[in-house]
Amino acid sequence: MENLVKRRMFRAWMVRTLFCVALGSMWIVRPAAATPDLFDTVVIDAGHGGKDFGACGAKGLQEKELVLDVAQRVAKKLRTQNIDVVMTREDDTFIPLDERTMLANEIRGDLFLSIHANATPVKNVHGIETYFLSLESSDAEADAVASRENESFASERGATSPLSEDPLTAILGDLVMTEHLVESDQFAKLAQEKLALLSGVPSRGVKQAPFVVLMGVQMPASLVEIGFITNEGEEKKLKADSHREEIAKQLVAAVLEYRDRYNAKRGVKPYTTSTR
Ligand SMILES: [Zn+2]
Repeated sequence: MENLVKRRMFRAWMVRTLFCVALGSMWIVRPAAATPDLFDTVVIDAGHGGKDFGACGAKGLQEKELVLDVAQRVAKKLRTQNIDVVMTREDDTFIPLDERTMLANEIRGDLFLSIHANATPVKNVHGIETYFLSLESSDAEADAVASRENESFASERGATSPLSEDPLTAILGDLVMTEHLVESDQFAKLAQEKLALLSGVPSRGVKQAPFVVLMGVQMPASLVEIGFITNEGEEKKLKADSHREEIAKQLVAAVLEYRDRYNAKRGVKPYTTSTR
């Protein structure tokens, strides 16, 4: 009974949130699309934080620490390329997933990049995956990744079943995500292509799954899983400064290439030092 009440409350909250986002898209996004907009603002989302540790490796590496460090490296490099970067968290603070989405929409970013590390009970699995939003997961593994990454949201809201099983969420989710689906797919492919250049790290491809943090984001959005913290060899690599730096470098290369394509498509000139 208590679960039923919690589920109803969660469902009502989700419908309200997605409805507001859908309305917002009519007022905010469409007028902006009429004016060619320079690609100049990226939202970097370091997963987890505070009481939400994310995944933990056997040798003690915590996802929340790893992804914040990589996110800071990405932000620093992008700023040297004249890109404004807004981070959803700058330190070890717990920020609810829906607040991250709201922040990104408020500042009207041109791209949302969420950085995470993967985990699985199968210890020999390793490699990099990039995701973009879908209410249906590409496969059972992708579904498990989204469920794990959505855990903090589900526990905060008292949800008892996957978001993808709620029909109202599905309808409203479809409404808010369609607009940027193609661009999200394009960026995800670029990010995965660049990350596949990392030595000794297999590419596990671009996948789709229902990540709460990507739901309602009114801009192209992807989530990267930069490696499996549960694989001993990969955990060791992910602890190394040089590997983190290389991941950041490849993510920045993907953002810059995406920016150039984005600006060319909209017929706007990229920033130079004289236009800033
Ligand atoms: Zn995560």
